[in-house]
Amino acid sequence: MAEKQKLNPFQIAQQQLDRAAEVMKLDPGIHAILREPMRELHVSIPVRMDDGTIRVFKGFRVQYNDARGPCKGGIRFHPEETIDTVRALAAWMTWKTALMDLPLGGGKGGIICNPKEMSMGELERLSRGYVDQVGRILGPEKDIPAPDVYTNPQVMAWMADEYAKLRGYYVPGVVTGKPLPIGGSEGRDSATAKGAFYTIREAAKKLKLSLHNATFAVQGYGNAGRFIARFLHDAGAKLVAVSDSRGGIINRAGLDPQAVEKHKRETGSVVDFPGATSISNPELLELDVDILCPAALENQITGENAGRIQAKIVAELANGPTTPQADLILHERGVFVIPDFLCNAGGVTVSYFEWVQNLSNFYWDLSHVQALLDKTMTQSFWEVERAADKYRVDPRTAAYVVAVSRVAEAIRLRGIA
Ligand code: NAD
Repeated sequence: MAEKQKLNPFQIAQQQLDRAAEVMKLDPGIHAILREPMRELHVSIPVRMDDGTIRVFKGFRVQYNDARGPCKGGIRFHPEETIDTVRALAAWMTWKTALMDLPLGGGKGGIICNPKEMSMGELERLSRGYVDQVGRILGPEKDIPAPDVYTNPQVMAWMADEYAKLRGYYVPGVVTGKPLPIGGSEGRDSATAKGAFYTIREAAKKLKLSLHNATFAVQGYGNAGRFIARFLHDAGAKLVAVSDSRGGIINRAGLDPQAVEKHKRETGSVVDFPGATSISNPELLELDVDILCPAALENQITGENAGRIQAKIVAELANGPTTPQADLILHERGVFVIPDFLCNAGGVTVSYFEWVQNLSNFYWDLSHVQALLDKTMTQSFWEVERAADKYRVDPRTAAYVVAVSRVAEAIRLRGIA
């Protein structure tokens, strides 16, 4: 518990970078550059609320690094958003795009607001107001946002439309995760989970674990969680437990992901699913399953519970679900962790495909998107494995080494004057 309280996400991101820098003997000057965001914009966004009053919302855009290409990363709407969370996520985006070898840098944005208490009209005015303030540093060749926590394709559509007003013509490549009719990509909605599935498939090959009849549990049943449940189930694995913010359910005989999804759609939660028993979120993490998929929040596997995790594979669909202390414990105990910025990189990879389609104005079918995603994820998975063997480190540190070397090389080649 004590560890959970003192964690600041940006300090975690810096600690993870420091560890990689030490392993790879990174040039201290380049290390210093990579420890801090390149640019941050803090804005105040006035919004006329439905009752006629004006409220002012705080927003941020962090452009962490653009050595390899334009910054890329989502925009979050959250009542507890902090600049440190946005900084950490922007740093992770830098490593994620580099690890996937995409010609992009890393960024992230956020607005402190509670979207659950706002009408559609208020959300639209807030989204447009954000682009009015931040638009000057956005653009397909500068910085390309995408959806994240509590933002969605509709929010991206409003943002793209507001940006069109600033430029005088529609520029679909300014944001990704758009609805299909206005320049979205096939496969974007399930891309994170599809990419995670490919990395789990490769991890299972490495551990000689057959996915057929392998057992798995999923924490969080939102976009990432419900699609990974479907994809693993389709590959023959057995879903034994799932949870959401209200609690969890377990059935050792197996749960049907689509039926659970329907129940959640109808009742608002997975809880009370017929035929299943209740289980708490902490209990779900410690179940005796082959594959554990944290797909909800940060800091779920900590120094306190890491010793009791029984899964063979922890597939981090969520960002930052494992603390650095837990990482060491899991590694020592031989639990194979697929680190977040590899495991959940399918979303940004298909976002990249969307941007490429927008720039070329030529659109691909789903099978083409998925074949390229499979290739990209599989290649990155084995690059991380090779680095883990070479440096004798855990997969997260290895992923950092691969990603940081690529960003460092770009900085060296472009030069510092
Ligand atoms: P989402 O909002 O669609 O779903 C989140 C789910 O987590 C919901 O089912 C919610 O009920 C559940 N949840 C909330 N608090 C919980 C708690 N205390 N215990 C258990 N469950 C809880 O979000 P999402 O898009 O699926 O994102 C989930 C995670 O995956 C986040 O960490 C996000 O950063 C990461 N991620 C998502 C994407 C994507 O494309 N969706 C891409 C990369 C990373």
